[in-house]
Amino acid sequence: MKIKHVFFDLDRTLWDFERNSETALRQIYEELKLSKYMESFDSFMEVYRRVNGEWWNKYRYGKVKKEDLRVGRFLDTLREFDAENFEIATQLGERYVQVSPYQTNLLPHTAETLKELKENGNAIHIITNGFKEIQFIKLKNSDILHYFDDVLCSEEVGVNKPDPLVFKSAMERTNAKAHESIMIGDDFEADVLGAEKVGIKGVLFDPNEHFKHNNEVHKIQSLKEVPPIVVGL
Ligand SMILES: [Mg+2]
Repeated sequence: MKIKHVFFDLDRTLWDFERNSETALRQIYEELKLSKYMESFDSFMEVYRRVNGEWWNKYRYGKVKKEDLRVGRFLDTLREFDAENFEIATQLGERYVQVSPYQTNLLPHTAETLKELKENGNAIHIITNGFKEIQFIKLKNSDILHYFDDVLCSEEVGVNKPDPLVFKSAMERTNAKAHESIMIGDDFEADVLGAEKVGIKGVLFDPNEHFKHNNEVHKIQSLKEVPPIVVGL
């Protein structure tokens, strides 16, 4: 069956979240003079990465609201340096959402892959658990928004990937049928299992080969592999 619709996750699949996040936080670390409270920016990042991951897991399962996540992850990070301070955490949270989406690093081969898919006649879409106002800034500033026919942010549906409702809404909005669709993302549970629950083929983007447990899953290490998969299926 020919694939017509290619759904992509955004963060860590196309938009280089790690690099962009670190660039933004380095700037804010200087602005707020956080070196008063901790040894180095690297030590801040190490704690923040872990704490942020924990908050996103809670958010994904609906245990916390986005407002709580924005500040809570920084408050928890500061606490580990004995610098728990709600005002600084709030400033960090606000500056981070202001600065980070404007960063423009994309994962390798993003633009050329999207261009090739469009030229091959595919419709391409985003399905993201990120916040709508933030995700659109990222897409516009990194100059890839124009490639997409639809951008679905899970908050528009009210639940997050891997909830099947997110994928069903995406198919409804784009008139895509499961058997002519494919979903590419870096999160096995949210992107791959979520898509496969509604019959969409899921492909795991795993550039650093972190994912080891399941041989069944279709893995790719480079976005360059997407157009051949789409053509060859
Ligand atoms: Mg992702």
